[in-house]
Amino acid sequence: MTPWRQAAPGELCTCGRQAREVFVRADGDEIGYCGVPDGGSKSGPCPFCGKRRHSPGPCPRYTLRLPADPVTCDDPRPNGG
Ligand SMILES: [Zn+2]
Ligand SMILES: [Zn+2]
Repeated sequence: MTPWRQAAPGELCTCGRQAREVFVRADGDEIGYCGVPDGGSKSGPCPFCGKRRHSPGPCPRYTLRLPADPVTCDDPRPNGG
């Protein structure tokens, strides 16, 4: 069986682009790949840490999905009279 699967929307390549495929490593880590082998080197700084691009290898802060936006919690307290 292949360790590759199709990426879902929102899953990112190590270069920061939307991933096309996701490689599942033996240890369970998932790494996205956008299909462009340039590592995003022409698209500015690292999208995960904001510093220089990392070569070789992904950013130590790389995650397949960026953390969800902070949820603005509507305070559910009832309006006590
Ligand atoms: Zn990429
Ligand atoms: Zn980085």
